[in-house]
Amino acid sequence: MQADNDLRQGPSTRSVRAGVPAAVVEAPILPGPTLASSYHLPGDPHGHTDVYGRDDNPTWRALERAIGELEGGHAVVFASGMAAAAAVLLGLCEPGRPVLVPSDGYPGVREIASDHLAARGIEARLAPTDEQAIVESLAGTSIVWIESPSNPRLDLVGISALARASHDAGALLVVDNTLATPLGQTPLELGADLVVASGSKHLCGHSDLILGYVAAREPELADRLRAWRTMTGSIPGPFEAWLAHRSIATLALRVTRQCENAAALAELLAGRPEVSLVRYPGLEGDPSRALADRQMRLYGSLLGFVLPDQGWAERFLDRSEMVVQATSFGGLHTSAERRARWGWDDVPEGWIRLSAGIEDTEDLLADIGRALDLARE
Ligand SMILES: *Cc1c(COP(=O)(O)O)cnc(C)c1O
Repeated sequence: MQADNDLRQGPSTRSVRAGVPAAVVEAPILPGPTLASSYHLPGDPHGHTDVYGRDDNPTWRALERAIGELEGGHAVVFASGMAAAAAVLLGLCEPGRPVLVPSDGYPGVREIASDHLAARGIEARLAPTDEQAIVESLAGTSIVWIESPSNPRLDLVGISALARASHDAGALLVVDNTLATPLGQTPLELGADLVVASGSKHLCGHSDLILGYVAAREPELADRLRAWRTMTGSIPGPFEAWLAHRSIATLALRVTRQCENAAALAELLAGRPEVSLVRYPGLEGDPSRALADRQMRLYGSLLGFVLPDQGWAERFLDRSEMVVQATSFGGLHTSAERRARWGWDDVPEGWIRLSAGIEDTEDLLADIGRALDLARE
């Protein structure tokens, strides 16, 4: 654990203080990026930290302290969420033991398992985001990977129960915490061994960079992943790492507003006759609500809803003035897409995945209400 990690402090306090170094007179509060491929290194090279730019960098270490404090573990930053996922699945899998990944989660994770592990003789098992289905599939595995909430259907699974079941089976429990953010959920506290996340979403939050991380409960696992990163070169640029750290200061401000907007939109959508389904973990009556109340601090900024068909969904997106039509989520601007356009998720043609931004709630509600009216044709 990091010395400064104090999960009892409020989310904004923790965000703005995360990874900020001790005061040095005349030094900046958050030091700028260290842009270096090589460092001065005379004599015996052993025992030094900064020897070459692929091994380590002071800007990464500051960001890793910040993420480690928020997740309550030992963080290793990567070039992207996928680089972090590949490090865990390829770097920690064991010969002869299957891995279990979600059938309904982030498609890239499934691809690593099926195209790269299965192709090398490691069985890639799939299970939906459902506690019983996961428990029934985990015998013999070395890694159990869950995504809670799942993307895009926003199902939850009990992290504590699955940590116990995974450990009983001798497996590591890995939780993709991208959707929840470390302010919304801390899986390591709930018993998970590793958290993996894309920092490209809420963590950085400005839709301007790609980054990923792993946070480990045990320092030994973090060391193995750091060694993998050095060997494969799946490293973030120092400038991206610095921008990420700068963005974390406002994580709580942004995410709190985004969650408020998402909750208000979920209410609005639930009252519309053309919307046949709304999924939002915070919505009264949502299948994820009870579990969210047990293991999450925030319900999140992502919601899913279903319009009658593809044309209706496209008209809605075209006629909104505020919703940015884009994939990805977690940014400052409200964005949405018709998820079935990709063809890789099991969702109806009219399923919209919407990521609430930080706009004023009344403005957003007015725009979405108007766009729904105009989408009727
Ligand atoms: C975006 C995303 C990833 C991949 O992260 P990148 O930074 O795009 O590589 C992994 N998991 C989830 C749930 C994501 O949303």
